[in-house]
Amino acid sequence: MPDLLANLNPEQLAAVTLPNEPALILAGAGSGKTRVLITRIAWLIQQRFATPATVLAVTFTNKAAREMMGRLTALLPIDTRGMWIGTFHGLCNRMLRAHHRDAGLPATFQILDTADQLSAIKRLMKGLGVDDEKYPPKNLQYFINNAKEQGLRPDQVDASDTFNQKFVELYRAYEQQCQREGVVDFPELLLRCYELLVHHAPLRAHYQARFKHILVDEFQDTNKLQYAWLKLLAGPSNAIFAVGDDDQSIYAFRGANVGNMRDFEREFNVRHLIKLEQNYRSHGYILDAANQLIANNARRLGKNLRTDAGHGEPVRVYEAATDTQEAAWAVEEIRALMNQGLARGEIAVLYRSNAQSRAIEHTLVSAGIPYRVYGGLRFFERQEIKHALAYLRLIDNGNDDTAFARVVNFPTRGIGARTIEQLADAARLYNCSMAAAIPYVTGKAGSSLASFANLIAKMRVETERMSLPETVEYVVRTSGLAEFYEGEREGQDRLENLQELVNAATAFVSEEGYGLDTPARSIPLSRGASAAPEIGFSPDDAGDPATTVLDAPGLDEPAQNPDLMTPLAGFLSHASLEAGESQAQAGEDAVQLMTVHAAKGLEFTAVFITGLEEGLFPHENSAIEPEGLEEERRLMYVAITRAKERLYLSFAQSRMLHGQTRYNIRSRFFDELPQETLKWLTPKAEAGARWGGRSDNAGWGRDWFARPDRQQGRYGGSYGGYAATEGAAAALPAFANEQREADTGFRVGQQVFHTKFGEGAITALEGSGADARAQVRFKRHGEKWLALAVAKLQVVE
Ligand code: ATP
Ligand code: MG
Repeated sequence: MPDLLANLNPEQLAAVTLPNEPALILAGAGSGKTRVLITRIAWLIQQRFATPATVLAVTFTNKAAREMMGRLTALLPIDTRGMWIGTFHGLCNRMLRAHHRDAGLPATFQILDTADQLSAIKRLMKGLGVDDEKYPPKNLQYFINNAKEQGLRPDQVDASDTFNQKFVELYRAYEQQCQREGVVDFPELLLRCYELLVHHAPLRAHYQARFKHILVDEFQDTNKLQYAWLKLLAGPSNAIFAVGDDDQSIYAFRGANVGNMRDFEREFNVRHLIKLEQNYRSHGYILDAANQLIANNARRLGKNLRTDAGHGEPVRVYEAATDTQEAAWAVEEIRALMNQGLARGEIAVLYRSNAQSRAIEHTLVSAGIPYRVYGGLRFFERQEIKHALAYLRLIDNGNDDTAFARVVNFPTRGIGARTIEQLADAARLYNCSMAAAIPYVTGKAGSSLASFANLIAKMRVETERMSLPETVEYVVRTSGLAEFYEGEREGQDRLENLQELVNAATAFVSEEGYGLDTPARSIPLSRGASAAPEIGFSPDDAGDPATTVLDAPGLDEPAQNPDLMTPLAGFLSHASLEAGESQAQAGEDAVQLMTVHAAKGLEFTAVFITGLEEGLFPHENSAIEPEGLEEERRLMYVAITRAKERLYLSFAQSRMLHGQTRYNIRSRFFDELPQETLKWLTPKAEAGARWGGRSDNAGWGRDWFARPDRQQGRYGGSYGGYAATEGAAAALPAFANEQREADTGFRVGQQVFHTKFGEGAITALEGSGADARAQVRFKRHGEKWLALAVAKLQVVE
């Protein structure tokens, strides 16, 4: 029997072996919280305090859930299929599938991802003739999701003003639309599941009897609804074992509530509060940087972190002229790390927002280094994949109007926008799905629609006995998608992606243990039997308690193991929920690219945090909320603490983002880090006057001009050479400012006019020739840096 408890420190040991009572492990990054949680599951099972079926563990991302499974089976050989380990969304989906009737959903309900949801909202608004300038669809989406995350249905939302009243009315109409189509958006998964448990006492009792052990990772980021769901599952007698770190709460903007930690302590009368203070992840300098940064936050529960590891390498800081140069530098460093023998998967590049990945992706492609992006435009979000999935969804559920609208005329079948509108009107009139409304459309339009309906019906019949990969392949061909992309000039990539979808289906059925021959649309009988744990339990122990309770009256589908769904339903859920298929082949060692949010809970030997610029990180939106900056700082704390041995921080003076060049100044976070932990690879300009929208350009313009690479007009790959020029910033030619004024034809203090921003005054000038730029304080739009070559400022006399 493996000794699971060796190598734990005394506090960790205490946490792992706590009695089955409510417990909160509150500890900083890298202190072993997740390790404790996983070890506890293994220990409970090994000691026979639990069977896999009595454990429910929640974590935040699919990647984290997968890692949890991996780490668990490495500790103890258990069959994890009977276990409920996953994200909130994943687990709720599973529960809703099993009890769809009680939840008021069709067996084949489909999940709308964020983009699908937005198009469903747009379709709704169009149908109702709502002005989308006055009521932007995105705002409505936010409104709906926010309400759902608070657990509020339309009649529970406060609708005091007319604007809100309109939104509530649309929220109600949107719900009806979703219900009619049999689709469920992300927050709905949670709310529906929560309501299912609230309204069905026998079900609630069943799951409360089953999940004796509920473990929650990243507890600080649960929102109100998630917490309520957990409380329902825990019921009066089950224990919740929660681990979290208030300093890593980074979802407040989506309604996550650190207060849940305090509520949990109080409401569950938590007697076991354990703090872990030893950090096992990061070398000394990295940890010092993280600790000092987060000390700038006022609202903290207060924890300490120490390490026995030595200082390690200093944190390297690089200032680039442009985002392209920043990417070139990072890739060169990555290559150096690879040459030192580091696996690519041990290297992560983090950024604050998705759009920033483009430059670095581009450079990695040119360098031929495999990489994988988590989040961002994911495999399952690509156009051709969504088209193919839409056909699959229609086979599964003909009422899914989002899928219907997507492919009814793709590839083109001569069904015009007018016909589709006519159909949508009929569907509204008869309160049915678009597919069901087809008979109401007459004439030529009606017959084109009918032949589309026949196509779907034919697909449904012919795939009846096909396995999932066969079904996918069949659909790609029969839908006409393959033929369509074959005829397209740029279609090769898309065809390859469609082939990749067949591969993804094959991988899915084998990973999920469905067996390659199982028909895609039936629940495999063999699966229930093979779900018994491999380790030696008595037969009584091994069974899923669900099977006995499910015979109770009032419960849905007595014959069916609630853990199971058809391969097709499973695959479609997976496609909607799954983050990040990749550019690299599955399983290939690849550099990891992701947003800081997506990196939560993960660790890498080497971490690059890029784009550390005011406005980007901290993000400009955070300035709106007083708490915003603290949340950004926690985000930075999360980013820094992902690194084990090497940490690189970088920023660029100019950056192309959303089609515009922005001129940024370096992030204030640099001034909050202990300077002795940093090693500047480029000359460091003096601190101060660098941020906060100051109108003087002291410091900023200086190193730009003094930079050797600028003067020689080159980007030296051997940035190390810059270290020798440290202090060069001080040697700024005193005449620089006058020189620039002469170069640009503008002067500081001048009144100017810009076609978009209106009138303003120049507050600073930099650069010369094509690089010349001005900082202008606009009367209505505040201060902005503008490239003079592009901006075409007019002097107002
Ligand atoms: P985060 O807050 O970032 O999620 P965490 O507290 O969950 O971090 P873990 O990921 O569990 O931390 O652990 C961090 C690293 O330290 C892991 O590599 C883990 O294996 C290692 N570790 C944890 N405890 C010990 C220990 N007692 N001995 C050796 N290594 C440990
Ligand atoms: Mg963790």
